[in-house]
Amino acid sequence: MATDDRSELNAYRRALFAPEDELLRELMPAAEQLGLPRISVNPEAGKALHVLARAVGAKKILEFGSLAGYSGLWLARALPAGGKLITLEANAKHAEVTRANFAKAGLADRTEVRVGRAEELLPGVRAEAPFDLVFIDADKENYPKYLDFALPHVRLGGLICADNADGHGHAHESLAADDPRRGIQEYNARVASHPRLTSICLPFGGWLAVSLVVAPA
Ligand code: SAH
Ligand code: MG
Repeated sequence: MATDDRSELNAYRRALFAPEDELLRELMPAAEQLGLPRISVNPEAGKALHVLARAVGAKKILEFGSLAGYSGLWLARALPAGGKLITLEANAKHAEVTRANFAKAGLADRTEVRVGRAEELLPGVRAEAPFDLVFIDADKENYPKYLDFALPHVRLGGLICADNADGHGHAHESLAADDPRRGIQEYNARVASHPRLTSICLPFGGWLAVSLVVAPA
């Protein structure tokens, strides 16, 4: 083993701090069989979302981008009875797979999958605010718009999180004007310096930006 090969060390960390039960372990392989892309958060990021949701006592969570329900399952399992995860998904097939996975996990009572482009669903979602945690993981060019929605709709002491803060490895580069990853760059710059937020970026998977709402709207 080369001295810079940390794969065994990472496996050690995963086994201890982000173990998956059978449902989580089989969720993305099964989704891939149905033709869905394998682009969920990794176990460490999923567990981070779970711990963060519990840390803020989240009862109401909003997710942008369900895919097959992998991150949603980590989040929904952090909810108390009577809590609710609303997840927004543009692709009808992805939404259907997510619903089936939530039902299989016994979480149908505290989850709701809404189908449509997030931007178009937001007027209806507004009635469910305030949220304790918002997790952004849908189309990258619209991250700034989703932040605009989250800022007035997450309670003081709540969290705004976003996956893929590394811009698929390109967040530090100067990108073409039409590159969707520009949305991530703008998102990162805004949450890093926003007067109502204090933020960190956790280096799990494609990086998880985590912003705590520290001042009222
Ligand atoms: N959060 C998931 C992964 C989401 S992948 C997990 O970690 O397990 C991104 C998802 O966002 C895809 O399922 C895609 O169909 C969906 N999506 C893309 N653009 C969207 C939009 N405008 N509105 C809602 N969902 C969108
Ligand atoms: Mg992602």
